[in-house]
Amino acid sequence: MKYYSLNNKNLKVSFQEAVIQGLAPDKGLYFPEHITPIESDFYNKIESLSNEAIAFEVIKQFVGDEIPETTLKQIISETLCFDFPLVEVEKDVYSLELFHGPTMAFKDVGARFMARCLAYFNKDKSDSKNTVLVATSGDTGGAVASGFLGVEGVEVVILYPSGKVSDIQEKQLTTLGQNITALEVDGVFDDCQDMVKQAFLDESLHHKNLTSANSINIARWLPQMFYFFFAYKQLKQSGKSLVVSCPSGNFGNICAGILAKKLGLPIEHFVASTNVNDTVPRFLKNGTYEPKPSKATISNAMDVGNPSNFVRIQEMYNNDLKAFEKDFSSFSFSDEETTEALKHIYKISGYVAEPHGAVGYLGLKRQLEKNSGSIGVFLETAHPVKFLEIVEETLNVKLPIPSQIESVMGKEKKSNKIKSYEDLKAFLK
Ligand SMILES: *Cc1c(COP(=O)(O)O)cnc(C)c1O
Repeated sequence: MKYYSLNNKNLKVSFQEAVIQGLAPDKGLYFPEHITPIESDFYNKIESLSNEAIAFEVIKQFVGDEIPETTLKQIISETLCFDFPLVEVEKDVYSLELFHGPTMAFKDVGARFMARCLAYFNKDKSDSKNTVLVATSGDTGGAVASGFLGVEGVEVVILYPSGKVSDIQEKQLTTLGQNITALEVDGVFDDCQDMVKQAFLDESLHHKNLTSANSINIARWLPQMFYFFFAYKQLKQSGKSLVVSCPSGNFGNICAGILAKKLGLPIEHFVASTNVNDTVPRFLKNGTYEPKPSKATISNAMDVGNPSNFVRIQEMYNNDLKAFEKDFSSFSFSDEETTEALKHIYKISGYVAEPHGAVGYLGLKRQLEKNSGSIGVFLETAHPVKFLEIVEETLNVKLPIPSQIESVMGKEKKSNKIKSYEDLKAFLK
């Protein structure tokens, strides 16, 4: 499979090159040259397939012959080392829990898959190292740190906005050591992301073989399709159409869901639910794409002013807004609405959500007003304990701390403070 740059269709690379580069040299995001729907036989028998078998069918066309089948199956099996349960919170409204992995965030899936692909591509290159450079608004850092910990030939450098991630998130990305380094940036997430983008374009850092582990990297993004199929597998027998709401920041998750639909997965409608960082909902309202600096919210992993993956979604619809709006809606919600939703969900079902999932729930409910008779699924993208204070305060509950989290809480934070791109560059050199 070849991937082209969204800035230049003639610039094509292999899967391996796209994974190793992250972003194309012309700053474009890579996009698969072909998207071939999976044959109907697969959908007819999906409920009889294991998650691993489904994932293999879904990803194989995107990897091609660049990773041997047995290795790819091994990578998938190590990636999917946890469950993806659906929990009904009210009639025909389900939470798809993506947080049962090692760092309790959905990003474990993409990070684990990408780390193992990179390790495979590096296996014969004892002389050259890759540096994974990643900006995080919260959960990416922890998932990437955990996914890449101890991977030979890969150094990981994580940039996060000082004071803007939760205590648990900070511990997850600053306490592992080994090949993982955390840089604490005096700024907001967009500053971190801008520095990372600048570093990729900096000729003088070329020898560091920089790559990204944000959802701009295809090996992070593509495996995020898997759990949309797992949800369908569990709900297929209902015979009802599906509406899926993704709490969205950089729009990687929802972009993977839409790609799954292009592979034939019967999802009727997608909702991108955002917090007050509402660049996409505004775009759908008035037709102009006008990014703004990000604002801090209680769903901080979605505090993104200029969502990277939106261009990929536009590519899938050939920039045809009419066709796009048929499949896709986007709504924005305030922090007040989010805490009200947390309380509401808890009251009607006893279910403890966290702020990102609650935003997803709100968007889903709004769309279900139009798609009555459908089954709705919202992604619960992180475990509530990762947003401990806000959840405990809002719901007046005490959450037990899962073992994955407890093990990092006692460890000592190690980070280097930086202020500017020059600091980052000096560090990398
Ligand atoms: C990253 C993240 C999101 C946003 O996902 P995107 O793919 O960037 O849209 C939502 N919720 C949580 C908890 C996250 O960590």
